Amino acid sequence: MPLPVAHGLLGASVAAALYQPFESRRWKILATGAFLGICPDFDYALNWLRISGGGWHHGFTHSIMFALFLGLMTAAMVSGKKLRNIVVFGCAAGSHTLLDYLMTESTGVALWWPFTNHRYRLSLPNPIDYNWDNASLWASAIDLVRISLSELMIFAPILLVVLLARRRLIVRCN
Ligand SMILES: [Zn+2]
Repeated sequence: MPLPVAHGLLGASVAAALYQPFESRRWKILATGAFLGICPDFDYALNWLRISGGGWHHGFTHSIMFALFLGLMTAAMVSGKKLRNIVVFGCAAGSHTLLDYLMTESTGVALWWPFTNHRYRLSLPNPIDYNWDNASLWASAIDLVRISLSELMIFAPILLVVLLARRRLIVRCN
């Protein structure tokens, strides 16, 4: 199960790759993309609050419809409801759903909510060992650091490649 490091970096990569104009608003767009990439996992709060008995994780917040909703809300706040920006921010949020769909070891994500609550997953071989030692707080902290660093090593280069490609494109156009 990917952690916020992976989701944030992937969301930022998607926003950086697609948003126009990027250079003048670079940090704002990267932060927005990272936040959108993490957003669907706020459904943990519904579990912690025991709303309707829990069981919310990987539910409606992990659907394509919810990603589009986040895209619409974000575009309205950041730049007016331009269709292109709704798609860009929707894709940044949807990157979370896609990554969980590809890698989750749970029963899957509610990809097509509200049409069906069925959970979908692809269960690709996972490059990161997400096994977690719950024997002590120290052991859990060590595993959290290990997993976060593994995600950083895989997903930070993706963001760097996107940023370098954008810079090359801008230099070429000028
Ligand atoms: Zn998730």
